[in-house]
Amino acid sequence: MELAQLMDLRPQPAAGLLMMLTRRCPLRCAHCSTGSTMTAAEPDAGNLLRFTGSFTSADHPETLLLTGGEPLLLPELTAELAGLARAAGTRTALLTGAFFARDVGRTPGGPGARGVLPDRIRRAVDAVDHFSVSLDAFHEREVPRAGVFRVVREVLDAGTAASFHLLGTGPEDPYLADVTTAVRREFGDRVPMLVNSVRPVGRAAADARPAANRGPAAGVAHDPLRALPCSMAAWPVVADDGTVVACCNQDTVDRRPVPPHLLLGHAGEDDWPTVRRRTTGSPVLRAVRTVGPTRLLARHGGPAAQATRDAGYCAGCRALGEHPEAVAGAERLASGPAGALLDQRAARRQREAGPVAYVRRHGCAPYADLVALPGTGS
Ligand code: SF4
Ligand code: SF4
Repeated sequence: MELAQLMDLRPQPAAGLLMMLTRRCPLRCAHCSTGSTMTAAEPDAGNLLRFTGSFTSADHPETLLLTGGEPLLLPELTAELAGLARAAGTRTALLTGAFFARDVGRTPGGPGARGVLPDRIRRAVDAVDHFSVSLDAFHEREVPRAGVFRVVREVLDAGTAASFHLLGTGPEDPYLADVTTAVRREFGDRVPMLVNSVRPVGRAAADARPAANRGPAAGVAHDPLRALPCSMAAWPVVADDGTVVACCNQDTVDRRPVPPHLLLGHAGEDDWPTVRRRTTGSPVLRAVRTVGPTRLLARHGGPAAQATRDAGYCAGCRALGEHPEAVAGAERLASGPAGALLDQRAARRQREAGPVAYVRRHGCAPYADLVALPGTGS
């Protein structure tokens, strides 16, 4: 499965599921939006296995994206989840920081004939359908670029499709020009890239998130009555405590309680068909996906919603429940079969525009084409 296939599905409600396997990570990237450390609590593996085991051939997400923290701290769990998913017809992608390549090029002798992938991790890589590695200036202080490239080469040699998730400070960041050129020089068209922007501020600071995680209007003034749909509300996210939320906004993933309209259940109590029904059937989520939270607040919230709107795209969305008129407006707009149709049409329109247009809107626009590099065709 190539990166472009994954991104093609991104606007489709419940076509994918993001699962945060753990908040633990042995690296200390300065911009880490999840604030991952090795002291974070361990996940309940039983809940994750039970929930993934509820996928059936008739009802499953098209893709399962395993993230962290560092999911490859748990290679056996990764492989088991990917196996359960595959049995139901779901393809699995994995996003790693490649911590196991930290010493490549830093210690004499190099990784040797056996390669840089430890056996346990190689088995997890063999179990997934797509392997993505994070790379950015902060990450390169933890893991050398040569080590990351070595890992990707071994993954490709093993027959698994791979991609890079790259971060820079914006379109003009010389790091992005340098790293994308280096990837093309090393791999040609075989490894597509998803390029995002992040501000160069400290670990755990709220604005250190990729623009895609701060809403499509991040940093841009716009007419509040204009529809500005949020396609991040399409794929549910299993947080590290098992809570299932409606999107990958980090405050929504991290803060408790979750606003009721963004809460979809718990991996220890609910099954996939229930979470899918809540994702696709909620009028508020349908309205967020089709017109966006800012328009809901501007159109239906009245003057009382002005301050909420001004707080920002995602902050406004998270506070929708404090404005019953806006929620009622969402229900009028997006309930019943007409609301379902509206939702499907919005997703279809975005999918017809293709993955490059999607990344141009949510990622670092000048590099959007790199998402559609052919890859390995596996
Ligand atoms: S690899 Fe990812 S999870 Fe780990 S510290 Fe870096 S940004 Fe955070
Ligand atoms: S908080 Fe709302 S607007 Fe922001 S990503 Fe989540 S669903 Fe979308």
